[in-house]
Amino acid sequence: MKGKDLQILIDYTNIVIGYNLTNIMDKYIQPKTSSDIGIIFTIPSSVFDKLNTLKDGKQKVNFVNSDEFIESIKEYCFIVYDKDRKICEIILHDNLNLKLFLPTIYLNFSSDVTLWVKSNDATILINEGFDDPHLCKSGPISENEKNTENGLCFLKQNINNKKVERGVVEDKLKYLKENLNKPTCKMNFKFSKDCVKYLSNICHVEPSLNYDGSLTQKEFAGCFKVEKILKEEKKIVYLLGLENSTIISGDEEGVEIIKGIYNFHSHPKEAYEKYKVKFGFPSTNDFIGFLSISIKYGAIFHIVVSLEGCYLISMSDYWSKNKSKLNRKVFSFIAKEYDYCGNSESIEWYMDKINSKKYQGYKLFDLQFIKWNEMKNTLSFSFSKTEENCFSDQDEYVNYLNVYKNIKYW
Ligand SMILES: [Zn+2]
Repeated sequence: MKGKDLQILIDYTNIVIGYNLTNIMDKYIQPKTSSDIGIIFTIPSSVFDKLNTLKDGKQKVNFVNSDEFIESIKEYCFIVYDKDRKICEIILHDNLNLKLFLPTIYLNFSSDVTLWVKSNDATILINEGFDDPHLCKSGPISENEKNTENGLCFLKQNINNKKVERGVVEDKLKYLKENLNKPTCKMNFKFSKDCVKYLSNICHVEPSLNYDGSLTQKEFAGCFKVEKILKEEKKIVYLLGLENSTIISGDEEGVEIIKGIYNFHSHPKEAYEKYKVKFGFPSTNDFIGFLSISIKYGAIFHIVVSLEGCYLISMSDYWSKNKSKLNRKVFSFIAKEYDYCGNSESIEWYMDKINSKKYQGYKLFDLQFIKWNEMKNTLSFSFSKTEENCFSDQDEYVNYLNVYKNIKYW
């Protein structure tokens, strides 16, 4: 009777290298890494059974290095594992075999481990529940080999039956392709109905009580999140809603800008009355606040909600790509050059002032003004890539930083 094939996971670092199994090492050359390496072999059950009859230690180890064992190997895949960071790289030499090795990986690693795989065959990966498609050269823990090309990479939590919505991952792939070979990222988005409703009321909120018993209106701030990915005329459009848990209130004339890649704060009605102003233009502190979170937390846009509409602040293409060249001097430049509060000329005049302002010869911010009746429209803006990737979804950016940079965003 013909036996079945089985998968066996061998600790490459401790067994193959540890016992100096040269036959295996010569044939299966290890990936470059300082993390633990494992190798999964597909072997006939008869060979597996024979291995099991042998005594632990030298006998078993010698058999693994024997011609009989090596010649019986039908498939293999390397895995690289970082137990502190709980990341497991699956290094395939043939995409089609992923399905074969996954059950062994599910079984041998805990469910809080993140699986990483690089493969241009997205269909197979999506079928197996992989998500977060992005471009990468090499894995987060194995060393970058010279001249490695960018390829498609995916992540997945180490859970056997974790399903993904095929359409959603395919839309993410489509967005990735839209931005491929372009110098900057373009994001098309629209706000959900509930979000527009919330924002349009936020400047008119009820006053709240102060320590001295007085009642005043406060500024509010919060973050947006992707609720859905839409397709409009074959273009990917992100539907943004409110991340309710992030909403905070500040004082009458200021609120902390919330950490996140896209966020807002409001200019309440009472402040207009107090200062007798027609427009609630973004203040110098608003520009400084946005620039700070853009540098520190990768913020891509900030919305200043006003009575007249919403001001969308983003970095110009040049400075978006050259943020690392900015130093503290830019903050005093903004404080001096961007103060138009109290000015009553017109919104067009103000927009022109801000959009024509240059820092060291290059435009600093892109400012868009969105009237309330335009808030339901599809909007767009551009921002810089993060190592070839365009992160328009907060969660994907957070996952990327965690896996590749070992940065905990939240
Ligand atoms: Zn403000």
